[in-house]
Amino acid sequence: MRLQKKICLSCRNFSLQETDSGVCKVVKGLASYPVKATEDTCDQWRDCGQQYFIRTGWIKGRLAKEQGHTVVTETGIIS
Ligand code: SF4
Repeated sequence: MRLQKKICLSCRNFSLQETDSGVCKVVKGLASYPVKATEDTCDQWRDCGQQYFIRTGWIKGRLAKEQGHTVVTETGIIS
């Protein structure tokens, strides 16, 4: 398997919320988690495995939807 870039988008602690950002849950139990850009990184990065492809598929679908297109992604049809 291809090595992932060590960025928030491919990190197990990341929770994607927008097409370019999400929150970091490396510290559990916070009332609100710090917002991170998908391209951010830190030394607590941990590989999220297959989740990375689900996230990139979701981003692709969201961006296409914003432009008024219907797309088929790895995770299904988004219209
Ligand atoms: S800030 Fe670090 S631990 Fe948090 S999601 Fe990004 S790479 Fe992962």
